[in-house]
Amino acid sequence: MEKIYFVGAGPGDKELITLKGYKLLSKADIVIYAGSLVNPELLDYCRKGCLLYDSATMSLEEIIEVMSEGASQDKLVVRLQTGDISIYGSIREQAEELKKLNIEYESIAGVSSFLGAAASLGIEYTVPEISQSLIITRMEGRTPVPELEKLELFAKHKTSMAIFLSVQGIEKVVEKLLEGGYSESTPVAVVYKATWRDEKTVSGSLSDIVAKVKSEGIKKTALILVGDFLGDEYNYSKLYDKSFSHEYRKATID
Ligand code: SAH
Repeated sequence: MEKIYFVGAGPGDKELITLKGYKLLSKADIVIYAGSLVNPELLDYCRKGCLLYDSATMSLEEIIEVMSEGASQDKLVVRLQTGDISIYGSIREQAEELKKLNIEYESIAGVSSFLGAAASLGIEYTVPEISQSLIITRMEGRTPVPELEKLELFAKHKTSMAIFLSVQGIEKVVEKLLEGGYSESTPVAVVYKATWRDEKTVSGSLSDIVAKVKSEGIKKTALILVGDFLGDEYNYSKLYDKSFSHEYRKATID
């Protein structure tokens, strides 16, 4: 019996899938892809005759049914999900169902959208002495978040944040971030469809981002990046500082 491959499709750009993911996709007999977010251009990599299922209209049971049918016939089944499957990928439940059926699976890493967005902006989340941590989170919506993970609690750290699945509630996001402790002048970038051909970026601060996002009409498929890492202040790292010795380089004094 074949195993199931969970493959991260990357954030959008069809060249941002890994070579391993690409090879599997091009050999697959069956591909179940997340049609609401995966760039359809990636399906061009599939061979003729490959069976394609869009999971947007399927239930968990239907997805597992397609997987188990395929595996039992020794077909190569790829489950293609956007970005990396470990971030809001709903992979746990699929994996648990497969375990119940004694079907093995393997995950292939992908480039998550928060990494695609950073590359598009050409920024670093961990600017020396400004921010050394990145919080990946979402605001509660129809899906709750644990009590201690409320946005306003995370905001107390005033570190870098990548907020998923929340742009439709941008007013509330801003309200909670301010309540938590970020100042009105904290920089924010909202990146819509990072790395897609129709990518759009809106930059501002917590005081004006709501109006800017509204006027661009961004309601989904966007990340809210917030924190001083986007600001004008920065420090050089010690890593390449010639007066700083480390394992691979002795300090040189002018
Ligand atoms: N596993 C995915 C996330 C899936 S959850 C990943 O690693 O990126 C879906 C959410 O991810 C969207 O609501 C949006 O917040 C974000 N997202 C996915 N692709 C995106 C993209 N290309 N640009 C901006 N945000 C994206």
